Amino acid sequence: MALVQEIISKATIELKNKNIQSARLDAEILLSTVLKAQRLDLVLKENQNVDFEEEQLFNQLLDQRKNNEPIAYIIKNKSFWNEDYYIARGALIPRPETEILIEMIAKKINNRKKNLNILDIGCGSGCLLISLLKEFSNSRGVGLDISKQALEICKKNISKYNLHHRTRLMHGDMNKVKIVNKFDIIVSNPPYLKNSEYQKLSKDIKQYEPKIALVANQEDGVFFYREIIKKFSSTLKVGGLLAFEIGDKQWNEIKKELVNNSFKIIDRYKLINDEIRCVLALKL
Ligand code: GLN
Repeated sequence: MALVQEIISKATIELKNKNIQSARLDAEILLSTVLKAQRLDLVLKENQNVDFEEEQLFNQLLDQRKNNEPIAYIIKNKSFWNEDYYIARGALIPRPETEILIEMIAKKINNRKKNLNILDIGCGSGCLLISLLKEFSNSRGVGLDISKQALEICKKNISKYNLHHRTRLMHGDMNKVKIVNKFDIIVSNPPYLKNSEYQKLSKDIKQYEPKIALVANQEDGVFFYREIIKKFSSTLKVGGLLAFEIGDKQWNEIKKELVNNSFKIIDRYKLINDEIRCVLALKL
């Protein structure tokens, strides 16, 4: 048997030796998951013993992390906006910058009781769609994804938040599916990397996250934005909102596409590196 603080110190060293930057934080998250405690409460428990079975389970999770598996896949959870999502391999891990899309929409539509029809293109885990459904209590939504695995994960999140009655999931290629409804909001965080950019990502991402959710096209990161603007403009009501997360250095090209296709840009958001990475456009 070992003490909480001993286990954390040892695991931190082991993770550091594997070049994992967030070693201590990761060790604490894994141990708090095993002990079913809040991470910050570990301080209060640092002199408590961890029993054998718990330590064994912890070591299993630690091995996964040592093999570069992202924490969210190991603990099957990731927080996004106001909720915790069930996450597993097969769906992209929600990123904090994607929350800005929700923030921009919530700022634009003050009436939280408004009846809204929402479409999430490439819904993955469902984090965007579900956040919007929870934000707007009378809204309904469609989640579209080409990956069956991602849709299974999304379904679990819809069950978790009891949103069946307001959600429909569609499986298919966005260029082939038939959608007859008109929407008030279309939101998408499509794949936007070129293959050369993907190659530079960390092992955590490349070994575990679905490539299909990250890479747009060999040489054209803007591919899906053009497709979405072309195919779904007529699916959006006049006065409706289109919210995109976009990649680094894609702003000028996407702005041009939007303006040339009857959209007015009403909000945009720069990340720390000063690149515009989120955009909100109004259908004219
Ligand atoms: N909409 C999901 C997210 O933002 C999935 C995005 C994707 O798979 N490209 O996390």
